[in-house]
Amino acid sequence: MNTQTFFDRVVEATPGGERLSRCLQCGSCGGSCPSGADMDHTPRGIFALLDGGFEEDVLSSNTPWYCVSCYACTTRCPQQIPITDIMYTLKQMAIHRGHYEHPHAAKFSEPFIGFVEQRGRSFEAGLATRYHLFHRPRDFFQPMQFFKMGMMGANMMRHNRLPLRPKTIRELDELQAILNEAKAIADQEVYA
Ligand code: SF4
Ligand code: SF4
Repeated sequence: MNTQTFFDRVVEATPGGERLSRCLQCGSCGGSCPSGADMDHTPRGIFALLDGGFEEDVLSSNTPWYCVSCYACTTRCPQQIPITDIMYTLKQMAIHRGHYEHPHAAKFSEPFIGFVEQRGRSFEAGLATRYHLFHRPRDFFQPMQFFKMGMMGANMMRHNRLPLRPKTIRELDELQAILNEAKAIADQEVYA
């Protein structure tokens, strides 16, 4: 029987996670976060809940799903806590437990991972189109939204940031071997 606390499991599943116990609750992370306004709890709030053992609240929070992995919090944390990586751990735990309230976020990550597994990199045009068509069709066909997305897409293309055809990296088989190993690790007991 696993006698570890939820806090311990998060720490163990995150490289450098042991530093989490040094959190000062200073709030620099939340203050740096571009997604903070949309989150149920700031990263600081999530860590307070983690410390208190509020597993259900943490795993059902939208906070990890709104994290865009910008690493602003991680670079500003005075205690060098790997905040962004902890967000990844929480997402993995939520998916593994089938206990998350934000299926659209998970649905967005599925095609992203699919492209990475098949080609070794994301394909933004395919990802955005698939996500909006299947999960936000009302937005997609709403004239103003459609216009806004079109403008953004045109801008990205002008800057060569939105290729229209997916590309495949070299040595894809090596990446796939790494991903398979990562999946095997993720399936270990620590996420149970
Ligand atoms: S910036 Fe670091 S020390 Fe401060 S609240 Fe966030 S995680 Fe804790
Ligand atoms: S890495 Fe995530 S949690 Fe940290 S500042 Fe960026 S969006 Fe916020």
